Amino acid sequence: MLSIAIHGGAGTVPRSTLSAEREAHYRAGLAAALDLGYTTLDQGGSSLDAVTAAVRALEDNPLFNAGRGAALTRDGAAELDAAIMEGRQQRAGAVAAVRHVRNPVELARRVMEKSRHVLLVGIGAEEFALEEGLALVPNAYFRTEERRAQLESERGGRPVSDLVPSSQGTVGAVARDAAGNLAAATSTGGMTNKRQGRVGDSPIIGAGTYAKNGVCAVSATGHGEYFIRSVAAHHICAAVEFRGLTLRDAVRELLHEKIRGLGGSGGVIAIDRGGGIVTDFSTEGMFRGTRDSSGLRQIDIY
Ligand code: ASP
Repeated sequence: MLSIAIHGGAGTVPRSTLSAEREAHYRAGLAAALDLGYTTLDQGGSSLDAVTAAVRALEDNPLFNAGRGAALTRDGAAELDAAIMEGRQQRAGAVAAVRHVRNPVELARRVMEKSRHVLLVGIGAEEFALEEGLALVPNAYFRTEERRAQLESERGGRPVSDLVPSSQGTVGAVARDAAGNLAAATSTGGMTNKRQGRVGDSPIIGAGTYAKNGVCAVSATGHGEYFIRSVAAHHICAAVEFRGLTLRDAVRELLHEKIRGLGGSGGVIAIDRGGGIVTDFSTEGMFRGTRDSSGLRQIDIY
């Protein structure tokens, strides 16, 4: 079975404050990314190509906290993290704290495919992006008026969301292709008002992003510190592989017992070896979309 799931962050805008017009924009952005990813699979592309395409589309959409429209650090800059992993050989690539790479997921993929490393940060990552000929942009490209207002609000002691610190955010995708290969990718601007140099769970392999063929692929969103401390994505896959839990039960345990027990919240999209999709969250909502070759095609927020 071909299948793909995407997310545009957990926490979301409280239902009472999300206008119909704004909701329609979120849904359209999710649908476009979902369909792009699915079409990639349908045309014989790999799960790696599908998650790259879907995440890149969400990075380019200013509504989501990744790429353009990223949450801002406390000094007002966008600082981006991303990771990608494939399940066949478990190769992975990630970048953190980059400020000028238009599509961090592309750079994460280059790190995986073209370097001897897994994680590159800051200046070293951007130097590599230059060598690879990736699109570099001024930091102002990422900064939107809305994120500036959110930063002001956080600075004034009014959290932009009482659910997760980044309010609406982080994007990710998981997919299974015709060959049964799994892949996961995640990209984020992190938390509003974060310190310069703060790295969240998204680019940490095993925390926010993980894939292993025959087991599962996972992309997480939420309060990253808790996802790092609980090695969230790997915890889910290990529960499936070694304890025989269903993917649904493994995700539930992680979010509603482990992360909640630590005091954190967030959401997860995951796909099992056969292409079965699980989405779950412990926040008010999670922007998400799911599509597979049995005819499923759904966009949900709450
Ligand atoms: N997990 C991301 C981070 O902590 C934020 C989010 O998912 O909203 O960097």
